Amino acid sequence: MLRIGPSGNSAVFYDSGHTHSYEAPEFLKSIDLNAYEYSFGRGFGMKDETALKMGEEVAKYDIALSVHAPYYINFANPDPEMIKKSFGYIEESIKKVRLMGGNRVVFHSATQGKMTREEALKTTHDNIKKLLAYLDEQGFEDYILCPETMGKYSQIGNLNEIVDLCLIDSRLMPCFDFGHLNCLLQGGLRSYEDYRILMDYTLEKLGERAKNLHIHFSKIMYGKGGEIKHLDFSDDFYGPPFEPLAKLINDYKMSPTIICESKDLMMEDAIKMKNICKNV
Ligand SMILES: [Zn+2]
Repeated sequence: MLRIGPSGNSAVFYDSGHTHSYEAPEFLKSIDLNAYEYSFGRGFGMKDETALKMGEEVAKYDIALSVHAPYYINFANPDPEMIKKSFGYIEESIKKVRLMGGNRVVFHSATQGKMTREEALKTTHDNIKKLLAYLDEQGFEDYILCPETMGKYSQIGNLNEIVDLCLIDSRLMPCFDFGHLNCLLQGGLRSYEDYRILMDYTLEKLGERAKNLHIHFSKIMYGKGGEIKHLDFSDDFYGPPFEPLAKLINDYKMSPTIICESKDLMMEDAIKMKNICKNV
């Protein structure tokens, strides 16, 4: 089943009298959306009782819930203490998403730092294998971890790197952020054919499970180093366009969860995406 929803809340949510994110599931249902991503990017501010309340609401209104792990994670960090911290951020994200009634945790894998690309990739692979073994010990083997494609060249996470990471274990599911990928390609994501090439590669490598991809979508401004800032659907200069992706998802009978990360208008633009998907 195709799932579409926002990352976080637009002004319209608060303007219509809502104050808490746990009111979002009911609101999303009322505007015909069925997914929601909650970000712990800057830390775990949410109390467990609030997370539980969220869990009740997403079950009641049939909203697919995912969380975004803290931005400080870096599995290429040479310092073992810092790797331990990254394990802790993932573990805490899983504990929260469990209370919140979801099973997907999106995370940024690593930054290259002073290492060569190869060294950084090998360190990232080694540490993610260790992470999975650690999570097994803690009884968290049922949660899906989604390493995200990143928008800056200094970050680990182009499409090939993310697909390779996901070959480690079937509970790793790519989070394709097509806005980020378009930044890396300097605007190269334009046509149906552009998307098709990426998707064919991914399906060939990962098989059928890739049809349940996690997707982040927004238009993003880019420059020489890649990503600059998130835009909304009023942009038609930087892109990428959503229409050809919607057509491909339909043609390939995929069931991804698509999270809209537009600046300020994530709920409004998620509705636009939903309507585009309905009319392909
Ligand atoms: Zn992200």
